[in-house]
Amino acid sequence: MTDHIRLLKTKKDVREFCASARKAGNKIGLVPTMGAIHSGHQSLVKRALEEAEIVVASVFVNPTQFSPTEDFDAYPRTIESDLMKMQEAGAAAVFAPSVEEMYGEAMVAHICKNGLSSFDFASHAVAGSAAKLWEGANRPHHFSGVTTVVSKLFNIVEPDVACFGEKDYQQLAVLRQMVADMDFNIKIIGCPIIREQNGLAISSRNRYMDSSQINRALALSSSLRLAQEMFDAGERSVDKIVGAAKEQLEANNLVIDYVAIVDAMTLEPLSSLGGVAGKDARMIMAAKVDKVRLIDNAALG
Ligand code: AMP
Repeated sequence: MTDHIRLLKTKKDVREFCASARKAGNKIGLVPTMGAIHSGHQSLVKRALEEAEIVVASVFVNPTQFSPTEDFDAYPRTIESDLMKMQEAGAAAVFAPSVEEMYGEAMVAHICKNGLSSFDFASHAVAGSAAKLWEGANRPHHFSGVTTVVSKLFNIVEPDVACFGEKDYQQLAVLRQMVADMDFNIKIIGCPIIREQNGLAISSRNRYMDSSQINRALALSSSLRLAQEMFDAGERSVDKIVGAAKEQLEANNLVIDYVAIVDAMTLEPLSSLGGVAGKDARMIMAAKVDKVRLIDNAALG
C-alpha cells in the first residue's frame, strides 16, 4: 500500500510523475474513473497492480460524454474520500484535472456556449462500430466522448496497461476496438463486476435509490441469473431467454430501455444461440427504477 498518494492536477505533473516512475524501471497501470470511488473502482486498481508497479487512477467527470439532459452537474464529486479509497486500494497517484486543464480554455468556452456534446470544435476520437447500438443508440455522443477522453489519458499517462470494468460492458468493447483500430500499445484488461451481497452491481448511482427501490433493482441481477440457468438447462432461443428476463424486470415495475443477447466482442445482437458457447454470448440490459437508470450484464455461461 502507498503511504502518501499523490494528487496530480496538471498534465505536466502527470508526465513528470510517470517519467520518473518509468525511469526507475516501473510499469505503469492506468485506471480511469469519474470519481465517487467504491469497491468496484478499487478492484480495478488491485488488478492493475498485478501487472504494473505504479498505478495512476484518474478522477474526472468528463463533460463530453454527457448529453445536455444528463446529470453532469449533479454527478457526485467527492475528491477527499476518493483519494483515501484510492490510497487504500494501492494507487500511487490520482490525476484529477479541471475541465479547463483537460480540454483547454477555448474548448470549455465552446462547450459553455454550444452544449456539452458539441464536438465540432476540437479534434476528437470517434468511437467505432461497437458503439452503434444499445447505450450508443440512446446516447448519441456518449462513446465518442469516452474514446476522446480515454485517448487523451492514454497520451498523458502513457500506461503499459489500463483496467476497465465489465460493469460498463459496451464501453469496454468500444475501447478494445479503439485500441486495436488505432494501434495504441496498451494492454486493456476487462475486470469482473463487483456486486453487493444481494447481487446488485455496485454503482455510484445506487445512492439515489431507497431500500424499496433497491429491492426492485435486484431484478436486474436476478434476471441475468435466470438467463444463465435457462442457458445451462439447454434453452437456445434468444427470444425465450430475453422474454423471461424482461418479464422479471417488468414484474418489478422497471422501465426497460433494452434487454439483448449479443456477441461478446462485437456487441451485435445474436439471433440464435445454437452452437454458441456461453462465454461468447453476453446478456446486456438497461432499465430505470423510477428516475434511476441502471445497467447490468453477464456472460451466459
Ligand atoms: P465510472 O467512474 O463509473 O466511469 O467507472 C470507472 C470504471 O470503473 C469503469 O471502467 C467501470 O466499468 C468500472 N466500474 C464501475 N463500477 C464497477 C463495478 N461494480 N465492478 C467493476 N468495475 C466497475
